[in-house]
Amino acid sequence: MIVSLSAHSQCADVSPRGLINDDSLMSDLYALADDMMQGRRTGTRGAAMARQYVAARFTEIGLQPVARDDYFHPFDYPKVGSDISGVNVLGVVPGDGFSGRFIVVTAHYDHLGKQGGRVFNGADDNASGVAAMLALAASIKQQPLPYSVLFLATDAEEKGLYGAKAFVESPPVSLDQIVANLNLDMLGQGKHRYKLYISGAGSHPAFEQLIDDTEALGTLCIIKGHRDVRRGYVNRRNNYRQASDHGAFLRHDIPYLFVGVAEHGTYHTDEDSAESIPPAFYQAATEASLILLRKMANITFTPRQVREDVP
Ligand SMILES: [Zn+2]
Repeated sequence: MIVSLSAHSQCADVSPRGLINDDSLMSDLYALADDMMQGRRTGTRGAAMARQYVAARFTEIGLQPVARDDYFHPFDYPKVGSDISGVNVLGVVPGDGFSGRFIVVTAHYDHLGKQGGRVFNGADDNASGVAAMLALAASIKQQPLPYSVLFLATDAEEKGLYGAKAFVESPPVSLDQIVANLNLDMLGQGKHRYKLYISGAGSHPAFEQLIDDTEALGTLCIIKGHRDVRRGYVNRRNNYRQASDHGAFLRHDIPYLFVGVAEHGTYHTDEDSAESIPPAFYQAATEASLILLRKMANITFTPRQVREDVP
């Protein structure tokens, strides 16, 4: 039998380098994607349990609350006829250089809940991003960056990025102090392709190089852009501004990078379970996100210009 060394098989050869705590990563993934969380639909008991879990982990890791006594930032968002509320969860690791400037790491914790008696656990979408964010928080807490890092688990993303929009519309620190957004949405389901996609390279002059450096240091294949499943090709130009929470930051001209796998067969189905996530790929994707974040902090972000209100 001839084994071909295609690009695909090279991509599949992932071997994480032990930069993060794999046991915590996997236990956070499994906990958030457990049936007990009932699919984490905004406004449900399952979503409340999920954010209690995230807050308890923030406490364990040692994140500081921002502008409140706890990590919870409730918000309302408009729905026809009535306001519905969601709750973001956020905490910070102060920087040891430019502590007044913030990189915001986002991952939405809400998902679709139950449909027709079946629980949509949303393991990849987006328990994987939240668990990865917790791994990044633990690492940054151990070894802080020059910039402060604000970790934001958003609610109501699936309904229209409402948690992220609420954050940027009413931020707990001045918007001008926020220098960049790193958005993690669907890091786990690398099966079949074993490729991680990063879009937003064009949103800051230093990001193209940052992604190249990250690929060189990590252990998996990184594609710039995002794979458009419907069109069947990698779209490097479309910035997928509405695809996930980074869209809310982009609207305010904040540079962003969006990390995630391509849409896949279990996307928004009841088969998106923790068991279906290949651990080595997921761990390597989380490591790549950590490398990206650490390298991002080497960039000198010039403070955003305060825009004068035009009468
Ligand atoms: Zn998502």
